[in-house]
Amino acid sequence: MIRHTTALIMIACMLLSACGTKDETTPESTKSSNGSVTLTQEQQNEPTATGTGKTKTNNPQSSTNSNSDQKSPGDDETSSTEKEGTDNTYGTQAAEDDIEKTYYMNANYYIKPNDKMSESKVVLLTFDDGPKEEKMIKGLIDTLDKHDAKAIFFVNGYRVQSHPELLKIIHERGQVVGNHAWDHEDLKKMSTTAAAKQVTDVQKIVKETIGVEPHFFRPPFGSGNDALKATVKKNGMLYMTWSNGSLDWDKSTKNKPDKVIQNVLDQLNPGSNILMHELPWTVEALDELLTKLEQKGYTFVDPRSIELEARS
Ligand SMILES: [Zn+2]
Repeated sequence: MIRHTTALIMIACMLLSACGTKDETTPESTKSSNGSVTLTQEQQNEPTATGTGKTKTNNPQSSTNSNSDQKSPGDDETSSTEKEGTDNTYGTQAAEDDIEKTYYMNANYYIKPNDKMSESKVVLLTFDDGPKEEKMIKGLIDTLDKHDAKAIFFVNGYRVQSHPELLKIIHERGQVVGNHAWDHEDLKKMSTTAAAKQVTDVQKIVKETIGVEPHFFRPPFGSGNDALKATVKKNGMLYMTWSNGSLDWDKSTKNKPDKVIQNVLDQLNPGSNILMHELPWTVEALDELLTKLEQKGYTFVDPRSIELEARS
């Protein structure tokens, strides 16, 4: 009997496959502009200041952001010829211009008030390596809205090219778009010209997609040099790495929202420039993280209130 049933199941299976029930292979990885497969979010790492992922610097003035050789494969540089239609009818540009520059960034990438009497217990929230998925972006922005917070979303050009509609969501919901280079590659290892193109191509595609150019630049892996900084400045942007790494990219934090929160709190200082990523566990952690920051008396600096020239 059992043998008979098994035989029947086997026949049924054979029939099904013969009918062309095609295996839907939906790889996690996304295809980039030139068609090469890039890393999934879980695989894509961003080293911290030391590249070891173990930085716990509590002294704002001693934080350094050296570079790491760690990198994720990206794409060859491609021209961004495929574009969404330009539509400049966005309402947030005027609002952006109206915001008074009441903060500046210091040489260690901390955010400080211009007026010493102003609130210094602030943090800058940033999310790198998107735009990837609508669900994650909306999850982050819903939480930011709940806490009346603005953040910089540092985007890669090849991802914008794949998902211009996600960039529009970030912009239309009043968040700030930053430039994170076209590919997620180490710009320091490129020629000055190639690195400059990585910067300007993102300015171009963002402008064409949402009508405004980014005002903030963060190099992949925090890795840059003077020539890159000059290019960034020439393009009217403020160059930054970070001063508080949530380590959400690190294996030790994968699927552990509590760890993301703890890592940020462990390195918390007035003016912390917090590096996070568009990752599921960061989306999950954000509400509690922002609540805890508020409980400690911190507010969230509006990126648009930061001067575009760093001060020493
Ligand atoms: Zn990155």
